[in-house]
Amino acid sequence: MSSPSWQFDNTYARLPAAFFEKATPALTPAPQLVLFNKRLAEELGLRLDGELAPLFAGQALPKGAEPIAQAYAGHQFGGFTMLGDGRAILLGEHVTPANVRVDIQLKGSGRTPYSRRGDGLAALGPMLREYLISEAMHALGIPTTRSLAVVRTGEQIERETRRPGAILTRVASSHIRVGTFQYAAARRDEANLRVLADYTIARHYPELTDASDKYPAFLHAVLGRQATLLAKWQLVGFIHGVMNTDNMAISGETIDYGPCAFLDTYHPGTVFSSIDENGRYAYGNQPTMAHWNLTRFAESLLPLLGAAEEEAVAVAMEALNTFPDLYEQAWLTGMRQKLGLQTEEANDQELIASLLTWMEQTEADFTNTFRTLNDPTDKNTDFAAWHTRWQERREREASSPAEQFALMQTANPAVIPRNHLVEEALAAAENDNNLEPLQALLEVLTQPYDYSSAPSKYQEPAPASACGYKTFCGT
Ligand code: AMP
Ligand code: MG
Repeated sequence: MSSPSWQFDNTYARLPAAFFEKATPALTPAPQLVLFNKRLAEELGLRLDGELAPLFAGQALPKGAEPIAQAYAGHQFGGFTMLGDGRAILLGEHVTPANVRVDIQLKGSGRTPYSRRGDGLAALGPMLREYLISEAMHALGIPTTRSLAVVRTGEQIERETRRPGAILTRVASSHIRVGTFQYAAARRDEANLRVLADYTIARHYPELTDASDKYPAFLHAVLGRQATLLAKWQLVGFIHGVMNTDNMAISGETIDYGPCAFLDTYHPGTVFSSIDENGRYAYGNQPTMAHWNLTRFAESLLPLLGAAEEEAVAVAMEALNTFPDLYEQAWLTGMRQKLGLQTEEANDQELIASLLTWMEQTEADFTNTFRTLNDPTDKNTDFAAWHTRWQERREREASSPAEQFALMQTANPAVIPRNHLVEEALAAAENDNNLEPLQALLEVLTQPYDYSSAPSKYQEPAPASACGYKTFCGT
């Protein structure tokens, strides 16, 4: 298809050869469109006429596409491996009418030179999950890759059982990962590492291009974006599930939705992913693991951070040491908003901590506790005591109760993707070819802060029978 609305300008494919391999989407016998994100297509300036299924199955490449698979490395649950796109193909970079550059990537489109023993394919359920959760995250105001379309390939793929194959079209500000830098560093090719750093700075941190201390400034800037991102995750109870360094984007977007899920009952130890046996990526560990990943990022950058190793390490350490505080400040700012507070008081941290302790002890629903914070009924005397303290704190604000309430409604979602509803919707789509529950859920999740319209079904926590919810990678 050669729709005039595509504007490809593929800068990544101009990087040194070590960073990618050419790749071709596999043939799919009977592609069928399942989901198409019309709103996103419009935002991207894509007026797609003609058949969408062959386009999003990679069978009819848009004019200007140069399909490649990207090389990267990664610490996966702590162990280092050289990797690469094993089941994803970058078609190229589309430049929108507003001059925004985005990667257009097909996920699940067949083997690439990096597939190793994998089949390069993806099952429908996990691709629909990525579409749903990434779009929900975007609507929540959290930086994330987007989802443009899902097609069924028409083939069954081999997993624990045979499942329908699918391809997701992912839109990202780029797919440059912490692992991309680890890849360059592991090859001990300083020239290429510098090329990658300069490229990434120009693409994502252009304000640093001419800075005299450009590489340390780059490290600081990446730390800042990740601190903000992690705070946003924690504030809505998002659990990524597989925060390996290859799944952390330098742009600061949430990337690679696998076994992710949202917290229901508040507990810092919450883990949903079946493969995260030791709770490495548990809810409460996420900021620490982000810091760990960013330490790997800083290590990769060492050759650029100073002439002598000792000097470079000092620069890296100085930057890395700012992360806990950057995170804490971003989190505290967000938590104050969740409580309707605009001013800062020294005791705020303690006020928040005691609410969280109450939630943990009573196994309270995270989202609904914040959504109904004004209403102490159905709670208990400990909560009532906390509520009184909170009211006293609110009285010291200059803003009116109504203003505080309005602020709270911008920070406390009325709806999140409830695990049981996500499963129900994916099962209906995958097993019964019924997309209705998924479409309905998607629609509600595009307005997560709209208190007036969210039907109560989408607000209720999982039934007790859903306790012990597990998510699977489904690769
Ligand atoms: P993920 O856990 O989805 O981030 O994937 C980790 C690595 O495994 C990435 O390099 C993927 O490209 C690769 N991978 C995952 N699933 C497959 C598959 N079905 N075939 C080939 N490679 C895969
Ligand atoms: Mg990945």
